[in-house]
Amino acid sequence: MLRRLLVSAACALALAAYAPRAHAAVNVVTTVPDLAAITREVGGKNVSVQALALPTQDPHFVDAKPSLALALMKADLLIQVGLDLEIGWLPTLQLGARNAKIQTGARGFLDCSTLVTRLEVPQTKVDRANGDIHPGGNPHYLYDPRAAALCAAGIAARLAEIDPGHDADYKAGLKAFQTKLEAGRQRGEKRLAPFRGQPIITYHRSWVYLVEWLGFVDAAELEPKPGIPPTSKHVAEVMVLGRKVGAKVIIQESYYPDTTSKLLGSKLPAKVLLLPAGADFKAGQGYVEHMDQVVEAIAKGFGS
Ligand SMILES: [Zn+2]
Repeated sequence: MLRRLLVSAACALALAAYAPRAHAAVNVVTTVPDLAAITREVGGKNVSVQALALPTQDPHFVDAKPSLALALMKADLLIQVGLDLEIGWLPTLQLGARNAKIQTGARGFLDCSTLVTRLEVPQTKVDRANGDIHPGGNPHYLYDPRAAALCAAGIAARLAEIDPGHDADYKAGLKAFQTKLEAGRQRGEKRLAPFRGQPIITYHRSWVYLVEWLGFVDAAELEPKPGIPPTSKHVAEVMVLGRKVGAKVIIQESYYPDTTSKLLGSKLPAKVLLLPAGADFKAGQGYVEHMDQVVEAIAKGFGS
């Protein structure tokens, strides 16, 4: 009896000492909040998850702060969007973290772009003069729930590789998430079905996967080239085009400046939608809930 008490006391002490990593949960760090939200649902109690970027932060340009390197120092698994989305800041952090587990090519590094069907893979040699072009294709695939389903499967498989003891849990977590995701996908398609074929203007070329998923028409971007801020000449062209095709909605992530969108919106006229770039992971929002929010905002933008 005494022995058992002592053992349990020792366990309690050990748990207290290692409280942040209670019972060796797999420590996952993702670059963007959507990947964190997916991992949390798939991994459940067997993972602790953290995202480096906030949904209100531009994932192309995250400040490589020491606190982010610290998160990577303790990570068992680093999950990125890939296709050069994070190329401006993640390699510095990976290097600074001095953690062999999460270096590119290691088992603790997962590039989700290897799991999805990519859009806009350049067929000719990429020239940076054409803006912030991603040579492997457009990296903004997380706006399509079908891509999220593929990411979730890849994440579950990698978690099971790192933590084989909980293989059954990851399989169950994946199944539950994919069921919920599939229902969300159908709900979104049904809600926006009346607007199929409608032209949409966006600020950055980040909505192509959503446009493809929901059958919209990509009318134009306010950035003349990806990553290049709008010029008055280009905006004038977008206005002419927007009028011609009858664009009623302008979509942009909330982290881009909204002055140009609002000006164009007032002149066309078109509704300007400022949307977060991903789930509010820290506040507990899930991927599906975030997509519901995006779908609802677009429906309202079309006045429905
Ligand atoms: Zn981009």
